[in-house]
Amino acid sequence: MTQLSHFVSGRFLPSAGAVVPIFNPATEAQIDLVPLGLKEEVDVAVAAAKAALPAWSALGLQQRSNLLFDLRQALAENRQEIIDLILCQTGKTLADATAEIARAAEIIGHATATPTLSATPYTRSVAANINTYEVRYPVGIVAAISPFNFPVMIPLLQTMTAIACGNTVVVKPSERNPSALLHIAELFSKAGLPDGVFNVVLGDRTIVDHIIEHPDVAAITFVGSTPVARYVRTQGVAHNKRVQAFGGGKNHLVIMPDADLDTAANAAVSAAFGAAGQRCMAVSVVVIVGSIADDLVKAIIDRASAISMGDVADASSELGPVISAQSRQRIVDYIDAAAGEGGILALDGRQRIVEEAGWYVAPTVIDHVKPGMAVHSEEIFGPVLSVVRVETYQEAIDVISASTFGNGAAIFTNDGALATQFTDDAQAGQIGINVPIPSPVYFHGFAGWRSSAFTESKLHGRDAIDFLTRTKTITARTLQAQIEGAM
Ligand code: NAD
Repeated sequence: MTQLSHFVSGRFLPSAGAVVPIFNPATEAQIDLVPLGLKEEVDVAVAAAKAALPAWSALGLQQRSNLLFDLRQALAENRQEIIDLILCQTGKTLADATAEIARAAEIIGHATATPTLSATPYTRSVAANINTYEVRYPVGIVAAISPFNFPVMIPLLQTMTAIACGNTVVVKPSERNPSALLHIAELFSKAGLPDGVFNVVLGDRTIVDHIIEHPDVAAITFVGSTPVARYVRTQGVAHNKRVQAFGGGKNHLVIMPDADLDTAANAAVSAAFGAAGQRCMAVSVVVIVGSIADDLVKAIIDRASAISMGDVADASSELGPVISAQSRQRIVDYIDAAAGEGGILALDGRQRIVEEAGWYVAPTVIDHVKPGMAVHSEEIFGPVLSVVRVETYQEAIDVISASTFGNGAAIFTNDGALATQFTDDAQAGQIGINVPIPSPVYFHGFAGWRSSAFTESKLHGRDAIDFLTRTKTITARTLQAQIEGAM
């Protein structure tokens, strides 16, 4: 077993903290040890970020952008090693891990557009001989705290535009699977990123608390579960930080009677069970309107039963394990409880054992779910799809509104006017029309509504640059004497 180290100022920094094991979710084997870093080690990382800040922020926007192209190249050239690390620590399938690296490359590509996106307004002649304009500055040291479910994509989403803006970063990945990000930090360093610009610290909630309190950290970008997002936002604001905190989701897919049944069933299955349902934008509730319900549920079950599970490195595997034994137990408990609350287990994933070991839960479909049941009101974060049957479009909207989450909501229909109406009615930050998971491309913004996000800013897109920079507004008079002197 390897004992992992922080990555600070261009080199690995061993920790003196206690260690906890990292497991391979597909085999349950202990594979590495991760230290729970000490506060003084966080201080070293923040000091490294602080030391690197003046030179990095003074580099031209275009020079930083050019360097990002090199980082993207480094990621591409070492793609397979990173995929292997995701497979063994996260339990993703080969297809999911490969897709994550493709998204990661797009994220770095998006960050190279920061010079174009960060232009500021200039107003000539606000009064005679007076012009007003805004100037951006990096906010300073940005701390990123990341979840386990996209161990590469999300930390890069939180940091690449940040560094493009001239900030330096300290990232705390999930303690369950940090190796892929550590490897990327080393690759970035070898590709020419100056020491101290991108630092990775290892640990759990204790060092998150220290990061929140640290006087040299200017901004915190958090992605994780809703209770922790709420906590980080509240504590961070109390410490006068800029904080964007993105939480969990409970995403609804409404299927209208006029939708194509095969298309809708395929979409529901891929959006519910892809990445074992461990996506903040996974569809976890399908709301079926009208008389198509029996046929649609049957079509969903037929497809979900055929999903292949097994060795995650085998390209034919479509569903991997969930992240931990605790997570598997939590999911099983939800399925148990749903039956007690009146849900019908139309497809029971607790019974389908595919491997001798591994925290697998097979696709599960719970029919006749009603708002108020735990499987509707809480985020399960596993391969469990709830089916709510309603008679009207308005009832479907009410089901969405009954949830406290608001990451995404989608509708499948051939009625254009209704689709537009849905855009207005659904209480969520991302809306899909005949698209089950409406995660936007990176040049558009992403933020959930309600308890899915505690923020005024977006995770990506133009708005993210406002979060990652601060501005001065300059009002400048050209003196009459200068004008006359020049003539
Ligand atoms: P988590 O909240 O358990 O952990 C996220 C991070 O917070 C980790 O780095 C962890 O070490 C730290 N942390 C955990 N408990 C803490 C505490 N009490 N105080 C301070 N820090 C703490 O989330 P997870 O299980 O790693 O990830 C899954 C969750 O993330 C799901 O709820 C999912 O919906 C959400 N998520 C949201 C988005 C989004 O964009 N909104 C994207 C991906 C994942």
